[in-house]
Amino acid sequence: MKGFSTLLDILYPPKCTLCHRVYGKLSPSEEIRKEQMGLCPFCDIEGYRIRFDETGNDHVRAAFRYEGAVRKAIGELKYHGRKSYAAYFARWMLEDQDLKEWVSTFDLLTAVPVSKERFQNRGYNQAEELARRIGDLTGIPYKEMVSRCRDTVAMKGLNKNERIANLQGAFGLAEGVEKKDPSDQKRVLLIDDICTTGSTLAQCRKVILDAFPSWIVESLAFSSENEDYA
Ligand SMILES: [Zn+2]
Repeated sequence: MKGFSTLLDILYPPKCTLCHRVYGKLSPSEEIRKEQMGLCPFCDIEGYRIRFDETGNDHVRAAFRYEGAVRKAIGELKYHGRKSYAAYFARWMLEDQDLKEWVSTFDLLTAVPVSKERFQNRGYNQAEELARRIGDLTGIPYKEMVSRCRDTVAMKGLNKNERIANLQGAFGLAEGVEKKDPSDQKRVLLIDDICTTGSTLAQCRKVILDAFPSWIVESLAFSSENEDYA
């Protein structure tokens, strides 16, 4: 069979499903990264980690710049139904020990909600998938804390003030979350796929803090699109 698979490799050289480049023979460690994170050796080096506190927003941390393989992978997760990428993202993020240690200090994971329409079209909320997969790797429970009260227009192309206006009253406490529930102090980590100006994360954080003023709420995005990087 070995000869057969070699012949297949010659006829149809293995290509990365993300960047479509032919990556040739993988070393055992590259094989593992392909398996666990969906990354070919080319994509792997395109995941540009940023300094954890480099998002330009208080209370928001991020793992990668929104560019290269990270940008492509988010596109697959969001627009091409590749739900499995969330597990890859979670592993890729938590490879960073500082980030992993920080994440492990939280009691609860939650996510930025998407609109009903987007949820129906996509079949899942990519931020929730990412949060749940981080939960799988860390043992931290996931709970839906924030929901969309109304739809908003797409944020692309809006400046910071327009974004804030677009989000006014867009989020509320999720159904079933008891306002008076626990009065003890909880550390909640709010998760999203991309942080641009940080206004969505700030609004969702506010919803949680309005209901639970004694809690600590921080945010973690898989990637950050900050114009100041350039
Ligand atoms: Zn690739």
